[in-house]
Amino acid sequence: MIGEQLVIESFSRKFGERFRMYPSSAKRGADNFFFLIRDDNDKYLVIAGDSAVCARFDGEPSGTLQFNSNTLSLKVAYLNHHNLTVLQKFFPHLAPSTCSKRASFGTGDRLGVTTPAHIRAFKDRYTFPVLAQQSVRENSRTGRDFQKVLDDAIWGAFEAGYEGPFGADADHVKRIEDLKEAVDCGYTMFTIDPSDWVRSDIHRLSEEEKNLFYESFPEKKELERRYLNKRYAVEGEKVYFEEKSLRDIALTYFRAVQHVAESYEFLRGYKRNNFDFEVSVDETPFSTSPLAHIFVVEELHRRGVDFQNLALHFIGDWQKGIDYIGEVDKFAREMSLHASIARKFGAYKLSLHSGSDKFSVYPVFAKQTQGLFHIKTAGTSFLEAIKIVARKNPSLYREIHNFALTRFAEDTAAYHVTTDVSRIPDAEKVPDDNLDSLLQQPDSRQLIHITFGSVLRAKNSEGKFLFRDKIYATLFKYEDDYYKEVTTHIEKHLTLLEGSQGGK
Ligand SMILES: [Zn+2]
Repeated sequence: MIGEQLVIESFSRKFGERFRMYPSSAKRGADNFFFLIRDDNDKYLVIAGDSAVCARFDGEPSGTLQFNSNTLSLKVAYLNHHNLTVLQKFFPHLAPSTCSKRASFGTGDRLGVTTPAHIRAFKDRYTFPVLAQQSVRENSRTGRDFQKVLDDAIWGAFEAGYEGPFGADADHVKRIEDLKEAVDCGYTMFTIDPSDWVRSDIHRLSEEEKNLFYESFPEKKELERRYLNKRYAVEGEKVYFEEKSLRDIALTYFRAVQHVAESYEFLRGYKRNNFDFEVSVDETPFSTSPLAHIFVVEELHRRGVDFQNLALHFIGDWQKGIDYIGEVDKFAREMSLHASIARKFGAYKLSLHSGSDKFSVYPVFAKQTQGLFHIKTAGTSFLEAIKIVARKNPSLYREIHNFALTRFAEDTAAYHVTTDVSRIPDAEKVPDDNLDSLLQQPDSRQLIHITFGSVLRAKNSEGKFLFRDKIYATLFKYEDDYYKEVTTHIEKHLTLLEGSQGGK
């Protein structure tokens, strides 16, 4: 009987000069063998087996492998969408699945070459990995789309030889047409962002203006009947809606909840099988009060929205790519209220966005939610990539750094950060072997974090990418170093989260 290792060895004897193997990827499916290889420029899928099977893949026929009386046809195939679809027929585990209420962690991979490193970080852990996670906004900044993001993650899972479950999150979706696209691509998790419908300016209106607006609300009477003076026991305290708080919360969130319900109804009708549903009201300029949390959840439930995750804007300062800024004790008190509400109203998971590097609050978050949590990260893996660029290709790093400085004023408008570029050391004066320290300094870290879209899209006058191809080439050349850094970094996140629950 021929085994996977024998096939790899035999292939390696024949082509070892030209290609490097990924032995962990080797799999046997219906008496055919599949594994990943690479040369200096690209990765390929090798199929060794039946000639009719080889013919189903796009690529170059590459002769045969001989084992005594057995002859295996060989094909070196491309990592494209068609080939992935055929490969999935042999290995159904190469498809995302739902996670439901398990503790979960999203590893947003903006570059699409990081999944094998992410998977290693999840080894021997119970947290469910959401390996594909990009928002519509991120895709517009990186020039990718939902299908590409999912395909890249699945090729990464294949490379790592991963056979466990994983999720695919269409993140921060605002429009039904984007939801439809994500369903068609095969996503299993949908994060609805109703922020266009949240009235964040209510607190700026006068009492008179608010009353006038509220009077025009067709649902006013119904809401008052439902909520006014209704008491909820939260952590031994009674909280309740009085007239003004109900008015302000309803004016702020009512239309947003309607939008979420419409999105949910669409998914129920359009997606034939199960899905994970996340509601995110995290992108408000103010933190979500416990009472607003209750209102949103009650209104979602009343409309029959079965959600697994709820992202709130938690108290404190959640800046991109750096640790939490705020009093951890205060956060812990507020979290205990939100977690208690989440348990009381159906035990959904609380979702933490901007989760990159929030090391000081992870233990509290995991403990208070008792493992009912989801975390989203993305920027932090990109920063690890640029760290490798700083170490291995210092001149490219300096070019990126200086370009990012020219983009910062414009790009920062989309973010809430307190970055002070004047504190960033001059990259030209930092010696090569210390350049990666700039990725530890919060201001330069955020500089690189915030300008990622501009850096990846920048082109010269001939229409060629200024940095993008060079970043990919550097990561490809130093892939082992890149994987190692990312794995260690994500492990640090997971250890703090899992360590805090006493195991599950
Ligand atoms: Zn968010």
